[in-house]
Amino acid sequence: MSDQHWRQQAACAGMDPRAFFSIGHHARAQVNAARRVCATCPVRQQCADFAIGVGEANGVWGGMSQKQLRERRRRFTSRAKTSTRAAA
Ligand code: SF4
Repeated sequence: MSDQHWRQQAACAGMDPRAFFSIGHHARAQVNAARRVCATCPVRQQCADFAIGVGEANGVWGGMSQKQLRERRRRFTSRAKTSTRAAA
């Protein structure tokens, strides 16, 4: 089980999680609002690392949009495969 004490320091602690999962016509405004919260968050890096580590595909994590999150995860996965091949 991963250490998730960082969540207690999150700028979004106590907020409705739905604010970070955009749906519908106001999705862009919702993502921008969520990212403004993330910009003030002291545990942004831990949040991003967690989302990438568990393969989270939806929502705003670590101040990243879903597109940015997918790109970071793709790079992470690519590096992990390269490391695994090098170690084999
Ligand atoms: S980076 Fe954003 S989503 Fe992640 S814990 Fe902080 S405020 Fe919440």
